[in-house]
Amino acid sequence: MIISMKKHATREEFETVTRQVNHFGYKVHSIEGEERVVIGVVGVGDVTACMESIEALPQVEHVVRISAPYKFVSREFRKEKTRVRVNGTVVGGDEFVVMAGPCSVESEEQILRSAEGVAKAGAKLLRGGAFKPRTSPYDFQGMEEEGLKLLQKAKQATGLAIVTEVMSDRDVDLVAHYADMLQIGARNMQNFMLLKALGRCGRPILLKRGLSSTVKELLMSAEYIVAHGNPEVILCERGIRTFETITRNTCDIAAIPALNELTHLPVILDPSHATGKRSLVPALCRAGVAIGADGLIVEVHPAPEKAISDGAQSLDIVQFSKMMEELKPYVELWKQTRMEVAVAAS
Ligand code: PEP
Ligand code: MN
Repeated sequence: MIISMKKHATREEFETVTRQVNHFGYKVHSIEGEERVVIGVVGVGDVTACMESIEALPQVEHVVRISAPYKFVSREFRKEKTRVRVNGTVVGGDEFVVMAGPCSVESEEQILRSAEGVAKAGAKLLRGGAFKPRTSPYDFQGMEEEGLKLLQKAKQATGLAIVTEVMSDRDVDLVAHYADMLQIGARNMQNFMLLKALGRCGRPILLKRGLSSTVKELLMSAEYIVAHGNPEVILCERGIRTFETITRNTCDIAAIPALNELTHLPVILDPSHATGKRSLVPALCRAGVAIGADGLIVEVHPAPEKAISDGAQSLDIVQFSKMMEELKPYVELWKQTRMEVAVAAS
């Protein structure tokens, strides 16, 4: 059950509601939104009696019964899509947002050339890992804080907002200091200590689907972040592990419309990790636009053949610019569809 308090409800009024909820044997979990406090209620008990009693309290705006185990992120909780603002760019609104950049930050020249190239081609955010989750302990692990500083330089040079990965709860404050959005990689989707630490980081989160995680598990991980106080979450389909070996992962393209039915959170597609092959990236980008994603995150490197990580799936600047150009008519159709959906909903 979700209880939405009236605007400007006081702490005392919130506590009255909490007492009433506890009286019926339930527990509360509150999140403070920009305008109002929303209370998630969990437990087992007489739902109807509890709802009726709470609805009668004067400080309560409305009460909704939610059946999904992920409450705050479910469509039942909120019908309209959440708009996540990342340094002036809105994801989940009426703009299709492309994030691009190298897998890892490698040097000042590499990240500046990447940033300038992707900005010119129309990307709104710069990606690049300073903390890298690598399968082998012998592989490049990232430039860490030095890499974050280079990302900041690239932001100053181009105006692009920064999205970069944080791997440990210990580093959340450090990464949040430099980044506009924190990325949680596939391997950390169920690092619950990390998810909890994101609740108060003051930055939007890009949550990538785990390699072997279901859509429901992805939503439960998003619920962790929201329940701990941060409603600004963007989900990312990046391919899952199957028996197929032609592609690095299997892109679960249907997860995008499925998520759009189940949650109000924005959903983007990562065609680079989904395929592992640069030749397949443009086709998947078109698919992402057509199927109703809110944006893309694409790996782009000024010299992919020299990349320290994920070169085979990275586009060079020319290929990325061409792809962005070819995507334009699809994005136009996407915009029209968004407008029609907005008109139908109003
Ligand atoms: C990445 O974005 O470079 C990355 C490591 O992605 P994922 O966590 O999806 O594997
Ligand atoms: Mn990568």
